[in-house]
Amino acid sequence: MHRTERRSISAADLNYAAEFRRRVDELKASVLMSGVVGRATALKRSGREYKGLCPFHGENSPSFFVNDAKGFGHCFGCGWHGDQIKFVMEREGCGFREAYQRLANDDLPTWSPAERQKAAAEDRLDDLEKEEWARKFFKASAPVAETPGRIYLRARGVTIEPPPFVRFGMVPSWRDKETGEWGRNRPALVCGAQDGTGAVVGIQRIFFKNDDPALGKKDCKLSLGSIRGSALRLGEAEPVIIMAEGPEDGLSIMQEGPGHPVWVPFGTSMMPSVQLPPIVRKVIIAEQNNTAGRIAAAKAAIALSDLGLEVASARPGDQFDDWNDQLRAVTA
Ligand SMILES: [Zn+2]
Repeated sequence: MHRTERRSISAADLNYAAEFRRRVDELKASVLMSGVVGRATALKRSGREYKGLCPFHGENSPSFFVNDAKGFGHCFGCGWHGDQIKFVMEREGCGFREAYQRLANDDLPTWSPAERQKAAAEDRLDDLEKEEWARKFFKASAPVAETPGRIYLRARGVTIEPPPFVRFGMVPSWRDKETGEWGRNRPALVCGAQDGTGAVVGIQRIFFKNDDPALGKKDCKLSLGSIRGSALRLGEAEPVIIMAEGPEDGLSIMQEGPGHPVWVPFGTSMMPSVQLPPIVRKVIIAEQNNTAGRIAAAKAAIALSDLGLEVASARPGDQFDDWNDQLRAVTA
């Protein structure tokens, strides 16, 4: 039998790869993400971050955030998330090495290791403080029971008893970035975002339109704390879980009695980042019935498969845009 000789990887190849990796890390640590993004879209300072119009999807109000300390950009509109190299690859349509080369050759703003270290420490402190505030607001809120939270949910056709991590509270919607003071308290549903161990590390506040829980959709949702990687768990972890886009969708699906616990990662694009306990083997993505929703779900399915999970998807009836629409049509 004939065997073809495979070219073995030499020590020189390995050295070259390690050296390239080191240079990439060095470049990512020294070149400011805001400098890279700033060439494609105008950025404005927003607290410790920058924000601007997303270069990856058309929009009129800025939802693209850049954090230099973390070295990434994130779009709350289309879910784009990545570092300097990914940004250049996708903006300029080139490969990894080419993107690295372009960044290395260009004259971009940089910072020293000391500056970066300090910014990273400040950023970490900032994150920990936000988590602490989120926990405080979550603890200060109460079970939905007969609060205005109940009226809000009933107005959306949700009649089941909300699980413990959906609460009602009087919480502020904004904080003065200069003085650190919080605005006045307003009624809201307070949803706990839980990390891999189930601990609350963030919240999503759903404020009612004009503070009236009976009013229709388009209520303001604001996050606080560590949302990426967390999920609102509407049920305990099981081998098969359902992931839904938002709390209303999640509660609507739960009410239909799907036979699996529903988790809400606060956005389809964040589904693959959720810290899953090892017991979870399969994720059913509850899609929304529009093009953007389907694209986001398809991307999430690929990323979840890459993590070794079995993935399936479910969609509301053709005539409904999302699961809450479907529920309300059913219960109307
Ligand atoms: Zn975007």
